[in-house]
Amino acid sequence: MDKSKLTIEEMAVFCKRKGFVYANSEIYGGIAGFYDFGHLGVELKNNIKKEWWKTFVQERDDVVGIDGSIITHPMVWKASGHVDGFTDILVDCRKCGSRFRGDQLIQDKLKIETHGMQLEEISKILKEKKLRCAKCGSDLGEPKRFNLMFNTNVGPVQTSSSAVFLRPETAQVIFANFKLVQENARLKLPFGIAQIGKAFRNEISPRDFLFRMREFEQMEIEYFVHPDKQEECNFIDEVLDYELNVYSADMQKNDKAMEKITIKQCLNKKIIKTRWHAYWLALMHKWFVEFGANAEHFRIRQHVKDELSHYALDTWDLEYEFPFGWKELQGLSNRTDFDLKKHMEHSKSDLTIFDEETKKKIVPHVICEPSQGVERAFLVFLFDAYSYDKKRDNVVLKLHPKLAPIKVGIFPLVSNKADLVKKARDVYDEMKKEWACTFDLSGSIGRRYARADETGIYATVTIDFESLEDESVTIRSRDTTEQVRVKISELKDVLKKYMDGEKLGKLGKKVE
Ligand code: ATP
Repeated sequence: MDKSKLTIEEMAVFCKRKGFVYANSEIYGGIAGFYDFGHLGVELKNNIKKEWWKTFVQERDDVVGIDGSIITHPMVWKASGHVDGFTDILVDCRKCGSRFRGDQLIQDKLKIETHGMQLEEISKILKEKKLRCAKCGSDLGEPKRFNLMFNTNVGPVQTSSSAVFLRPETAQVIFANFKLVQENARLKLPFGIAQIGKAFRNEISPRDFLFRMREFEQMEIEYFVHPDKQEECNFIDEVLDYELNVYSADMQKNDKAMEKITIKQCLNKKIIKTRWHAYWLALMHKWFVEFGANAEHFRIRQHVKDELSHYALDTWDLEYEFPFGWKELQGLSNRTDFDLKKHMEHSKSDLTIFDEETKKKIVPHVICEPSQGVERAFLVFLFDAYSYDKKRDNVVLKLHPKLAPIKVGIFPLVSNKADLVKKARDVYDEMKKEWACTFDLSGSIGRRYARADETGIYATVTIDFESLEDESVTIRSRDTTEQVRVKISELKDVLKKYMDGEKLGKLGKKVE
């Protein structure tokens, strides 16, 4: 077996064994689609969210953030179209009652693409191909639409007016707050509003570990532009030469393979319609690569005609090659002015912006909505970081230093020498003020290195007998196992430089 290539099931086992992710309420048998994050998992997840927020909100002048509530006025979901149309196609077994997503059943059994398939077509294929229950092999019932929103009630008395929904996406909370945020932050078009938060979907068949869950988190931006200036993207030059795997609707229709081309070519050949859309696609792709993911595992895929959501003019997915195939990692839709107009219509509120140039009120367009599931990003970073080092005979989790759950491991060489352990603890107390660190004195030093490698600890610091004499310690690199000797007084500085990308070998005296 190639120990570096994990299946999704093996990844779930690894995550449990190392304390990243557990099945929720496992002691009661678990509950499908819900997961809990252990210490390393929550650190990794927080780092992903922190770096995303830093890149797309804090480092930009044109994006601000919000943090909306999970339960909102139910009219939000009526206006957005979710009450009537946020559905998947459900088919159940007439005998054992097992429930399946119609499109997934077809994909699994017939190995054909089902992007954009509607109820009638799914029903036809199920009948024509005589597909049967995947569990017991019995007849399947008539497929029907199933709304994915979770309902609950607000207040002590349950009436039809107390019914509310858990939000199935974070986007609508941005639209509902659009006017307040725009006015308070004095935003001028073009601008974006971002949010990171929980979303809930009552998925018919949650599966593939963190890929399809019922409770997950999203990191989203709604990027608004002037309706008459949809082509004016002032940042496009930054990404024109950026190259990525592209799989357009035309390529899919004509059974062609994806192509590796630049953003400039995508725009010249009109593969991507607007510059803003191209810009955000490149930026999101780049973000993953900058944080250590492998560009070859990514492609951007355009939605085919029947696949487009009711609100979308054009949608591209950033896809990743998971062990179970190319799948959506992030959706980037051009939502036009659909949502703001719908909320204006239903709430009777004025969500327009006054255009100083034309002295007219305008409804901004969402030229692109990058919508990223945190847990899918979590999986991608883990898959691309996971490697098996034959020489070391252990797993090395090569996470980017900014994402690594624990940055530094502090190891006293031996555990039975009080002054040495004390010295190591002093170093640990100092380093943990700066980073997430761990102190480990159990087992041989080799065993401790292996444990550190497996959980992605970026650097380890060993305090030995010499440290007591000369106030110096050994730093070991997770990725190369290279070791250097540095003074304790310089340790923080050296580690900082190393985490910022400098070569460890240049930062201290090499240990042979
Ligand atoms: P899919 O086609 O995989 O069901 P979707 O098109 O319904 O996804 P969107 O509504 O575009 O997904 O949601 C935006 C992002 O939220 C997705 O790209 C994904 O990263 C994340 N996401 C959506 N549904 C789930 C889920 N059930 N579990 C985990 N992440 C999800």
